Amino acid sequence: AQEFAGLRITVAGLGVSGLSAARALAGLGARVTVVDGGDSAAQREKAEALAAEGITVRLGDAETLPEGTELVVTSPGWKPGSPLFAAAAAAGVDVVGDVEIAWRLRGRNGASAAPWLAVTGTNGKTTTTQMLASILRAAGLRTAAVGNIGTPIVDVVLAGADESGEPYDVLAVELSSYQLHWAPSLRVHSAAVLNLAPDHLDWHGSMEAYAADKGRVYEGNRIACVYNMADKATEDLMREADVEEGCRAVGFTLGTPGPSQLGVVDGLLVDRAFVEDRQKNAQELAEVSDVNPPAPHNIANALAAAALARAYGVPAKAVRDGLRAFTPDAHRIAHVADVDGVAYIDDSKATNTHATQASLAAYESIVWIAGGLAKGATFDELVAGAAGRLRGAVLIGADRALIREALARHAPEVPVVDLDRTDTGAMRAAVAEARKLARPGDTVLLAPACASMDMFTNYNKRGDAFAEAVRELGTADG
Ligand code: ADP
Repeated sequence: AQEFAGLRITVAGLGVSGLSAARALAGLGARVTVVDGGDSAAQREKAEALAAEGITVRLGDAETLPEGTELVVTSPGWKPGSPLFAAAAAAGVDVVGDVEIAWRLRGRNGASAAPWLAVTGTNGKTTTTQMLASILRAAGLRTAAVGNIGTPIVDVVLAGADESGEPYDVLAVELSSYQLHWAPSLRVHSAAVLNLAPDHLDWHGSMEAYAADKGRVYEGNRIACVYNMADKATEDLMREADVEEGCRAVGFTLGTPGPSQLGVVDGLLVDRAFVEDRQKNAQELAEVSDVNPPAPHNIANALAAAALARAYGVPAKAVRDGLRAFTPDAHRIAHVADVDGVAYIDDSKATNTHATQASLAAYESIVWIAGGLAKGATFDELVAGAAGRLRGAVLIGADRALIREALARHAPEVPVVDLDRTDTGAMRAAVAEARKLARPGDTVLLAPACASMDMFTNYNKRGDAFAEAVRELGTADG
């Protein structure tokens, strides 16, 4: 931690992660300035509170580098091309993210020295990280699911111990491509890349840049690099990575696994990579029905979580117990209600086309509610693949025209209601329109394929608005 004492650090962004980093670094003796382009009353209030803690806040200027800055710590929303980072580069100052800070703090001055098991990918990160934490807990290990979820990672690493004061044995760490981009010295125990599909291209600039950032998670891995055998891009990233000698490549597949792989045989999750009993060439881990929900994409998540846990030495039985104890977070293919024989499903977390593809594949006859911020995505492949299962579509949000045009090209017979609205109340109207299109046995599916920030604070609020509108339908019926 001495590394940070007296250091002049500029933190980009007065959000949750920026605040956590600023406080942690100030606590370690750094001289911290937080910069933010906004200048609202709420921000000024925050600034005053921080001033009392010895943290300087500069509002209304997100571009110029404060005089004397020695290190810049970014927040996820800031794009690599931001002028502040160009100014830092020109001044020869490093730019890093919260994960890099947590990694540098690791094992020093009471901070947690626990190894990290890392999960990244376009979709399934949170689910897989939580499954992993659940499996580790079932093995009696002290752990936390951190990173892109829950408590900011710097806080967890600095605390070093859970609420009961016991030090962590191992951390289950979800890493976003943003965090990986800004974490140059990260070298984890083992890592999994779940899948790779276009997302956040507006932030990264290109698919190549996005993939390269995801691939960073494998750099310097010591024990295992876990990859998805159905997604060659993940394997390519692994092969290109520079790993420690002896680090193993471990594939997961929904089919029968070969050596060094985990897979599915006769309704069982099976491990052929980390076999405990030397007489056997495969170890049974769990039943497919232990996975909640047992949809194909989620079984893949469970296999990836199992692979990381097994790389850490967790016994087979803990995999089963951990998977059974796991329940998915809200807004991930959550069943809200049945109204007039129509099921209403909230998959607000489907914020990109890859996730949406997985949820559209799970139902037969769908009234699809979609739209929001496309983040540079195209929708042709998604719509063409789902055309046969769409009863209708209701479009909301800023970039809905992109989806409307894809529907016109690939599903011209599907009725489309374009609500032409981006206000919060549009969700209620969308649910009402969806109801008119749906027949008994159908599924009304909120799977927006887009980010929510054009209409809502986040995907949680979007899912809540959907659920509320659905419940109103139910009560209006009596
Ligand atoms: P992330 O943290 O990567 O955003 P989540 O676990 O929160 O991932 O899931 C995000 C969305 O992706 C949800 O809509 C979920 O239904 C879908 N999903 C989860 N796992 C996968 C997967 N392996 N492949 C495709 N889609 C997935």
